Amino acid sequence: MSPTDWHTLSPSEAASRLQVDPARGLTASEAAERLGKYGPNQLAEEKKRGLVAAFIDQFRDPMVLILLGASLLALILREYLDGGAILAIVVLNAVLGLVQEFKADQALEALKELTAPHCKVRRDGRVVEIDTRELVPGDVVLLEAGDPVPADLRLTRSVMLQIDESLLTGESVPVHKEAGRTLEAGAPLAERVNMAFMSTAVTYGHAEGVVVGTGMETEVGRIAGKLQEEPQEATPLQKRLSQFSRQLGGAMLVIVVLLGALGLWRGMPWLEVLMVAVSLAVATIPEGLPAVTTIVLALGMQRMARRNAVIRRLSAVETLGSATYICSDKTGTLTQNRMTVTRLWLPEGWAEPDKTYTLRSRPGQLLAAGALCSDATLAEEGGEFRSIGDPTETALVIGAAKAGLDKRQLERDFPRVAEVPFSSDRKRMTTFHALDAAGEGYTGIVKGGPDVVLARCTRIRLESGTAELTPELRGAVEEANREMAEEGIRVLAVAFTPPAVDLPGDLASLERDLELIGLIGMTDPARPESADAVRRAHEAGIRTMMITGDHSTTALAIAKQVGIADEDSRVLSGPELEEMDDAELDRAVRTVPVYARVSPEHKLRIVESLRRQGQVVAMTGDGVNDAPALKRADIGVAMGVVGTGVARGAADMVLMDDNFATIVAAIEEGRTIYANIQKATFFLLSANVGELLIMTVAMLAGWPVPLQPIHLLWINLITDSLPAIALGVEPAEQGTMRRRPRDPKEPVLTRHLLTLMGTQAVFLTAVVLLALFAGMRAAPAAGVPAAALGSTYAFATLSLAQLWWAHGCRSTIRPSWRLGFFRNRVAWVATIVGLVLLVAVMTVPGLQPFFKVQPLSLQGWLTVLGLSLIPALLMEPLKALMGRGRE
Ligand code: ATP
Repeated sequence: MSPTDWHTLSPSEAASRLQVDPARGLTASEAAERLGKYGPNQLAEEKKRGLVAAFIDQFRDPMVLILLGASLLALILREYLDGGAILAIVVLNAVLGLVQEFKADQALEALKELTAPHCKVRRDGRVVEIDTRELVPGDVVLLEAGDPVPADLRLTRSVMLQIDESLLTGESVPVHKEAGRTLEAGAPLAERVNMAFMSTAVTYGHAEGVVVGTGMETEVGRIAGKLQEEPQEATPLQKRLSQFSRQLGGAMLVIVVLLGALGLWRGMPWLEVLMVAVSLAVATIPEGLPAVTTIVLALGMQRMARRNAVIRRLSAVETLGSATYICSDKTGTLTQNRMTVTRLWLPEGWAEPDKTYTLRSRPGQLLAAGALCSDATLAEEGGEFRSIGDPTETALVIGAAKAGLDKRQLERDFPRVAEVPFSSDRKRMTTFHALDAAGEGYTGIVKGGPDVVLARCTRIRLESGTAELTPELRGAVEEANREMAEEGIRVLAVAFTPPAVDLPGDLASLERDLELIGLIGMTDPARPESADAVRRAHEAGIRTMMITGDHSTTALAIAKQVGIADEDSRVLSGPELEEMDDAELDRAVRTVPVYARVSPEHKLRIVESLRRQGQVVAMTGDGVNDAPALKRADIGVAMGVVGTGVARGAADMVLMDDNFATIVAAIEEGRTIYANIQKATFFLLSANVGELLIMTVAMLAGWPVPLQPIHLLWINLITDSLPAIALGVEPAEQGTMRRRPRDPKEPVLTRHLLTLMGTQAVFLTAVVLLALFAGMRAAPAAGVPAAALGSTYAFATLSLAQLWWAHGCRSTIRPSWRLGFFRNRVAWVATIVGLVLLVAVMTVPGLQPFFKVQPLSLQGWLTVLGLSLIPALLMEPLKALMGRGRE
């Protein structure tokens, strides 16, 4: 049959064509076989660039092209050594670039795997969660609010299902779906209400459906053809750095041209001038900067992932570093989301939760009603009750089970016939149950926030029977609610709807004139690490906010426990917030730390208000309606465990452990990564400025050329790039979390760094030129040309000085000995590799002519070593002196 006609079949016809029993699903072996036949459920990806193409890309850089031109020229002029050496360096540079790119790519791919979407399917009669890519035609998929639809489905069951199909059809209002309907052939896509399509998302209700098409055989596959992967845009920092290096490059180029002209005027051979100019240009233009940034960001992301914060957008890493606000949910993020029923309130008074009750007792009725009105399921494992589902509901189901009321039995006695699902907006849920086996008459159970439920109650159930909910009784309920909420306990009210003979189409219309049964109180202890994390955030100048759907009093109690609120703190509730205009809200968000009974739109308004005031906001969210707020926040943070797929898709960062403390850890990493990129930049540029200054002074003074082209290239490649990457993995510096958040507009190179850079360049120039003269003086005794030995000395001194200076750059405000000298192992690896290579170049006879160096005597080595140490040693106390007050 044509792949588009599934909507004309009934659910059972569709299932039988796909050879599956919707109640059991496929077996594992059937699924495996079909996977082999139909292939994985994914849209074809854009073809990846091949290795050769990636290698060729490395030569697109104008600097590399200049170098290639220079080496070609040298070869034509039969300067084989120079030409060959430059060529070798260019190729080596390309290979290194390739390796870096590959590593960064790999890191990003690995992170993507961590947040690869999953879906719930029924296989072998059990519900299991699988990677969406393993889905095959015939699989039975379970959907609930917040789930992205993982493939094209013929719905087999639906409960008030609504799906947002805007990505597929452009329709912005969620579409109401009904599994029960069968449609005419030729119905347009937007009207196929018994189908669910890949790339759309469930916004409300729940459903089941059989997969009718996967991967490219889906509607979106046919339309899009290719996976429109969001390109990883360059981060603001990367953009700023490449712009910066272009500007700097331009400036350096001008200087280099001037130097070249000077050389020619001095009568230097033009080829030599050209070579020096070209290599100086290449050595001083910081073309490696963007590459180093990328690799540092990618490595940083891996480190964050190890701390349970998975970054989905590269730029979030640096934004995290300047976050000024963390707006967090309460349940599960600041608390453990391990709810337990600890209080039961009935009009007659409090009841013990952990006792055995029958259905005839009042506490028994309350617990049973709570369990019946929930979607969590009960299981027993080794004599212990376990429950799967939403933590609030699992608490109810286990609470009832402990009292001897097994939800499985309750459901057999009072089968559920209909429901109005829970949503954060409604803050309540209702289920309808058949009153007797004959199915005559129904009663509904409502559970939800006490304020919401109580507002709909007119009656109350007493020992003696139903009574009117008098103002006194209402007062007693509110008093009990307040008492629990003040202890940070979450309270749910449970009530009956009036009995109904028939169920109307609009079930929610029955949620009124309710009869209150009682209140159930659940504790959800704060996570032990929350208070400490909040304190660390405050020390770091970051303000914290709690934004929760829970009751104001409960919210405030927990906020006080974790330190977000203090004795004088105010709570703003969703309804109050609704009354405010933007200006009032702007004023409120500056002082109010706790927001209760908020809906997702309120979250959006809070983010917008903070951003209007120039704050950098990290905001958490888990529900499908949180997506807009997550997108609007500077850093949208989704929950990896309880979060919906839609929220994860909208987020910049996913918390694999749903933990507030992880956000603070990620901010610390973000700050460290930024600082490290700054250090690497500082190091690279101070080397470049040094080299330029050395050459300029020598040229102006008419001294021999201190550094040969090959020297400059070698230094650029080995003693600059390697340590720069090592600086990128420097551990967090002390006090990282005791500083105020960085102003996002602050330049990468602050005045402090520029001063240090200039000073270091002067020191470097002085010792390298001293080395040049020392070498020239030692030349007659060694019987070699003065200029040749002089430049060997200069080269060795500069190489070594760079290796030492890299260690100095590990902090720009503290002397290195206060950092723990060996804490950055990679820096030592870079130093040792650099040293070994330098010694090889200087001592292996075959390499010496290639690198234009003369053998050094012991005294020569000692001179070079001594001189090279001077700049780094002088800089140490200077750094501390100039960095005072910045710690
Ligand atoms: P947070 O926003 O911090 O995660 P939350 O979990 O309290 O907080 P929601 O899940 O939106 O936020 O719940 C809002 C309110 O709805 C709760 O305070 C509770 O009164 C009520 N509620 C929560 N879960 C259910 C449920 N399964 N059935 C009925 N009512 C519920």
